[in-house]
Amino acid sequence: MRCGFCLPACPTFRETGIEAESPRGRIALMKAVADGIMAPDAAFETQMNHCLGCRACEPACPADVKYGQLLEQARDAVETHTTSHRWWVKIARKAAFDGLFPHQNRMRLLGGALQLYQRAGLRKLARGTGLMKLFPPHLREMEAILPEASRRGVVEQIGAFHPAQGERIAAVGLFRGCIMDVLFTETNKHTVELLNEAGFDVVIPETQNCCGALHAHSGEQAGAKALAKRNIAAFKAAGVEWIVSNAGGCGALLVEYDHLLHDDPQWREDAAWFAKRTIDVSQLLVEHGRLQSAAQAALAAGAGLAGVGAAKAGAKAGDANDGGHGSGSAEPSADKGGGAQAAGHEHVRGVSAAPAKLAAASGVCAGSCSGVGFASAEGVRITYQDSCHLRNVMRSSEAPRKLMRSVANAEFVELAEADRCCGSAGIYNLTQPQMASQILDHKMEHVQRTEAHYLLTSNPGCLLQMKSGIEKHGMSGRMQAMHLVDFLHERMSGAGRSE
Ligand code: SF4
Ligand code: SF4
Repeated sequence: MRCGFCLPACPTFRETGIEAESPRGRIALMKAVADGIMAPDAAFETQMNHCLGCRACEPACPADVKYGQLLEQARDAVETHTTSHRWWVKIARKAAFDGLFPHQNRMRLLGGALQLYQRAGLRKLARGTGLMKLFPPHLREMEAILPEASRRGVVEQIGAFHPAQGERIAAVGLFRGCIMDVLFTETNKHTVELLNEAGFDVVIPETQNCCGALHAHSGEQAGAKALAKRNIAAFKAAGVEWIVSNAGGCGALLVEYDHLLHDDPQWREDAAWFAKRTIDVSQLLVEHGRLQSAAQAALAAGAGLAGVGAAKAGAKAGDANDGGHGSGSAEPSADKGGGAQAAGHEHVRGVSAAPAKLAAASGVCAGSCSGVGFASAEGVRITYQDSCHLRNVMRSSEAPRKLMRSVANAEFVELAEADRCCGSAGIYNLTQPQMASQILDHKMEHVQRTEAHYLLTSNPGCLLQMKSGIEKHGMSGRMQAMHLVDFLHERMSGAGRSE
């Protein structure tokens, strides 16, 4: 089939209008290589590198073509045949893929070095002396928005086991990620607390490592397989019922470990076990978690603006709320527009350090509550950029939206083309800065129109790209990019947090 239904879904085709920059065009090139008509040469490599790997073409395809798997094979073929890589590219790749990402202790050392650079005044020095001007603009932009790194990951900071609040629903294993655990350690900690509050024991197996996504997407299949085997062994030994991911990019490879190891008879069965049990944190919370009745009602109604009226009613009722569960009306309040916006601006500047108190003040859970619920102390408008891999591979786009709609006193606004890649795509924004920047600029036009105070997403790469877009488009005073988990955690209330 060459129907072309995938073309409008493809960001690079939409940007260029060129067939070779479309899924159909790329598949034709792959077929030419597979048929021996064309060599996997530098021109072929360039074309494959232009692909974001966002996989938006897959849900659009009526024939269920597994484009992502074709792309990985194509990149593997390029890696096997290429002679075009310069010596320093080869050394850098080897250092990153073999010497760094597979070793969590080395990732933490890198985190420590970055932390030193950020804290010891070296960052100021590099900027003050103009050293940063020696770097290309896209690297300078990325450096400017990097969050504070940590040399101590989630296990080093809080330990490897965390019991559920109340009756246990299941024991789950947290996939902490390699970059996630260095740059977004707080998000990992918040994920643990959310899961505990929703009724899950959380185990963080210490022998887990990088998911292997960067390897697999760069044609390093052998490296990806080795990492997958270590992860499968770590989580099997932990005896967990679910493997929870909070990063769409990692989760998308974890759910495809069965495909990655399908030709390995020794690992095939365990890989299938692992893939079947991998789930995104938002989906686990929505489908299996213990949520407070107000959150459940909002989820069941699927209504936007669920909390604006409800939380105000709850706050007015104060101690007299309905057993602390705040099941108020889902009617949007008449003043939510301007009022919410003004309050939200203030809120963005002074993000709360006392989420439990905020949530309790909103009336959602002022007493002893069962399960987790979410409430914002001030009216805020939120929007969401899908992680391509979470949406197109893990097929989870509704669960994050349901959670956002369940936050009392928050208005969820759908972002136009939220399902279209933001240009981050792993390291695409570093390797293909021009196309990434073009895609980001279009994305930010839509973002600006939402007038949201918070731009939420579910993947570290997307989050950094959104932060970069906000800075680049002069929106940092009125909008903040956050991981969905961090946003929910700030507004969480539950049995363990109701003091
Ligand atoms: S993965 Fe994304 S960029 Fe690549 S062909 Fe598919 S839709 Fe286009
Ligand atoms: S990949 Fe799917 S949607 Fe695209 S041309 Fe081929 S059959 Fe059609």
